[in-house]
Amino acid sequence: MTSVKCSQCGLINLSTSEFCKRCKASLELEPESASSFVAPPAPEYPVIDDDQPSKCRLSPLRILIVVLVVVFAVWYQFNRSDAARDAQAQKDKEFYQKRAEEDNLRHLGDRR
Ligand SMILES: [Zn+2]
Repeated sequence: MTSVKCSQCGLINLSTSEFCKRCKASLELEPESASSFVAPPAPEYPVIDDDQPSKCRLSPLRILIVVLVVVFAVWYQFNRSDAARDAQAQKDKEFYQKRAEEDNLRHLGDRR
C-alpha cells in the first residue's frame, strides 16, 4: 500500500504525506484497501482546488449579514422576554387585586 485515502475529502494521497494535499486534513493511517467502508464523512466546507485562488470565504458583506442577524435575534429575544414579563406582572397584579377584593368582602361578611 502506497496510498492513503483522505477521510475528509476522499483524495488519494501518498502514504508518506502526513496531510491531505487538497484539504490539509491530517491523514490517519487508513489504507486504501479499506475502501469498503460505507460513506466518508461529508466535508464541512466546500472543497476548493489548490489551483484556484482561494476565494475570500468571509466577505465583509457576509460578516455584516451575520452580525445583523445576531443583533436582531438578541434584540428580539430581549423584547419578547420583556413583553412576557410585563404580561406576567399584569396577571399577578390582577390576581392580587381580585384576592384583596375577596378578602374585603369576606371581612365585611364577618362583620355582619
Ligand atoms: Zn482531503
